[in-house]
Amino acid sequence: MMRESYASENDVGFKCINPDVGPVVIVGGNGKLGSLFSQLFRLSGYEVRILDKNDWDRADELLSDAGVVVVTVPINHTAEVIEQLPRLPKECVLLDLTSIKQAPLAAMLANHAGPVVGLHPMFGPDVSSLAKQVVVVCHGRFEEKYQWLLEQIRIWGARLHEASAAEHDQAMQLVQAMRHFTAFVYGSHLRRERADLDQLLQFSSPIYRLELAMVGRLFAQDAKLYGDIIFSQPDTLARARHYMDRYQEALSLLEAGDQEGFEALFDDIADWFGDFATQFRNESGNMLLSANDNRSE
Ligand code: NAD
Repeated sequence: MMRESYASENDVGFKCINPDVGPVVIVGGNGKLGSLFSQLFRLSGYEVRILDKNDWDRADELLSDAGVVVVTVPINHTAEVIEQLPRLPKECVLLDLTSIKQAPLAAMLANHAGPVVGLHPMFGPDVSSLAKQVVVVCHGRFEEKYQWLLEQIRIWGARLHEASAAEHDQAMQLVQAMRHFTAFVYGSHLRRERADLDQLLQFSSPIYRLELAMVGRLFAQDAKLYGDIIFSQPDTLARARHYMDRYQEALSLLEAGDQEGFEALFDDIADWFGDFATQFRNESGNMLLSANDNRSE
């Protein structure tokens, strides 16, 4: 799917911002995200080389004249892979695409004296184009030396969002680790309740269908990737416990039959959401309209 849509760009390709840079070496380039980025660099006219796990005996040869090195290996191997890199050319841009940013950025800065930048594509490898997708940028060192690369990513269609690695990792706790964790628990609950998914789909309103899709899609993906995202961040446990406290609070209202208390809490939360609540209602309304149009059955 992805291959076809990118292949169709092939006739025109993308503008090449820095034709004189040396080869782009993608460490982990046979992986899902690595393949997507190799394709984008190739379609933009760069020479791309892959250094995957069985290629380390050729590492010196592959990296000796590298202009860019992209690290995109499983989260738990990222630091050791960065440490394993031989000395890179001084001007070479070293970057990673890992879903967490603090540890990889620190490892890159410690192992390369040249330009360093941490990126996190906020999308999976199955996107058909980068249009409107977000890439988080955590600056490392010598920003002016990799401006061209950020421009190249903009040309692929993505929007860049700058953040510090600490800010990024903290936000990811909520938008990724906790969201995946709660989806995981909900999926587990559906299984234990022996939910009849077919029947649920027949009965469900569009919004519930969307929610089921959000949960169900998790289990069409890689257990290891989500395991890594949830387990590799030290704060996840504390966050999950706080979430349990909120759940317990709501459960107590239910146990006490305290509907008034529930409604009062509801109003407090609504106040806290403020104008965002209306914005979210409007946005989800539009999503539901198009989700309904795109239903597969
Ligand atoms: P993947 O398992 O598909 O690819 C990883 C690749 O790394 C594989 O080709 C593997 O052979 C290679 N590899 C493993 N150990 C290696 C080593 N020691 N040396 C060289 N290569 C090695 O994983 P992926 O989903 O492409 O994820 C890669 C990175 O991208 C992760 O850091 C992940 O956090 C990040 N990321 C993934 C997604 C996603 O949705 N898949 C989204 C954003 C960021």
